[in-house]
Amino acid sequence: MSTGDPSNGTRRRLTGWGGTAPSVATVVHPATRGDARAAFEAAGPRGLIARGLGRAYGDAAQNGGGMVLATAGLNGTALTAIGPIDGPRATITVGGGASLEAIQRAVLRTGWSLPVLPGTRHVTIGGAIASDVHGKNHHVDGSFGAHVEAFTLQPPAGDPIVVTRASDAALFEATTGGMGLTGVVLAATLRLMKVETRLMRVHNQRTADLDATMRALVEADATHRYSVAWLDLASTRARGRGIVTAADHARAAEAPAVGLLDEPSLWRATVPPVVPMNLVRRAGVSLFNAAWFRRPLPSEALAPIESYMAPLDALGAWNRLYGPRGLVQYQCALPAGEEAVLRAIVEAITHAPAVPALSVLKRFGPGNGAPLSFPIEGWTLAVDFPAGDPALGASLDTLDEHVAAAGGRVYFAKDARMRAEMVPLMYPRIDEWRATQARIDPAGVLTSDLDRRLHLTAASTRSAR
Ligand SMILES: Cc1cc2nc3c(=O)[nH]c(=O)nc-3n(C[C@H](O)[C@H](O)[C@H](O)COP(=O)(O)OP(=O)(O)OC[C@H]3O[C@@H](n4cnc5c(N)ncnc54)[C@H](O)[C@@H]3O)c2cc1C
Repeated sequence: MSTGDPSNGTRRRLTGWGGTAPSVATVVHPATRGDARAAFEAAGPRGLIARGLGRAYGDAAQNGGGMVLATAGLNGTALTAIGPIDGPRATITVGGGASLEAIQRAVLRTGWSLPVLPGTRHVTIGGAIASDVHGKNHHVDGSFGAHVEAFTLQPPAGDPIVVTRASDAALFEATTGGMGLTGVVLAATLRLMKVETRLMRVHNQRTADLDATMRALVEADATHRYSVAWLDLASTRARGRGIVTAADHARAAEAPAVGLLDEPSLWRATVPPVVPMNLVRRAGVSLFNAAWFRRPLPSEALAPIESYMAPLDALGAWNRLYGPRGLVQYQCALPAGEEAVLRAIVEAITHAPAVPALSVLKRFGPGNGAPLSFPIEGWTLAVDFPAGDPALGASLDTLDEHVAAAGGRVYFAKDARMRAEMVPLMYPRIDEWRATQARIDPAGVLTSDLDRRLHLTAASTRSAR
């Protein structure tokens, strides 16, 4: 593996977290900004895309036949500026390849946290910006981009650019949620959130069906900063029953024995895994879900921030539980007011032959100004299916049509199978995004398997490259 010499890349087979749609690319590992720039110069006709920790489920960080720039070496800037520690605000400047986990380890002990944490902390800053990731607090704090003050972008040609909303609003918004197609994020300056402890106060509520789950989420969002619902979609009798967990950061007075420095024991502590061992058979999932639903559940408890935000991280490579064919996650967003469509989608999933192994429902607050950012005000449903069921593709295509007709969209960071014609229906500002993307990349160097499949960039709509 090369470090610092982009011409010394090796060819590797890459997939996303779902393990579907593999392709082979030349992977380079720049150690410096100069290496990143040189990688663009060395990219051939199949172009280049950045790759962080490969946690996108589908083909966003792949570029079959072309170059993939792995950003792990671009984490060196680490914490160049935390402060002012005592004030209500702090900012931090980190490398684009730094992981959320590494940043949390460094800042939590000083009483700060990243303000948006997705369902895994094994995500890089570049990946978090490129997907404009959301957490369980979207209804209060918005998505990741809302907390980015500036980033340094390596475009396909020329010197790195420092981008802020004031310097180039269109490029800032096109990069936020732009799936790496506007350049490589080399570094970013983020706002942090003050926390008093490493703990969350978590409230659990069992719900009898989908309407009860939705009502509980609405109520939770009115009084809690974080909320999410696990859904049992394998049960046809109590469709959409689940467990709503609402949470807030614990105050120092609530957890006097736990200081900010008590790191090791808390990092080891985990919530029980929420995944059954047999994920490809409905009977196994149904049995597990029934047991999980009925398990003893405290109505209120303290839990480490990490285990509330990212419970599956405790299981490591849990995606392998789906076997060699991998998994497909279907994550859609539906506008508020389209609850009838959400109910219909849940019903269709419950009765479809494909096994809904793990399902999560959440409410989004208002979206932001980024044309390709996924969250819109309303609901988001994420369902993991084992890949390989021959009926799955057609049934998800049908769901896409319902979602698009209701003004909703599918999340590019989770997608591996959507059809290109759905993109302008789901993301009506795609042409505005394409114009900014073409301004920064007139030669069409930036591309990925996702781009070629969905014809996101203008260059990929013009040519079958
Ligand atoms: C278990 C699990 C839970 C998840 N939960 C959530 C969740 O709650 N909310 C949510 O929003 N997402 C969630 N995700 C998705 C994940 O947060 C995103 O896919 C994120 O983009 C992955 O970051 P990464 O560093 O692994 O990037 P990769 O997967 O490697 O790449 C993802 C995209 O980012 C681009 N990219 C990566 N680095 C850079 C860079 N330096 N510059 C420019 N572009 C770059 C790539 O080109 C690609 O388009 C989850 C994923 C998993 C596996």
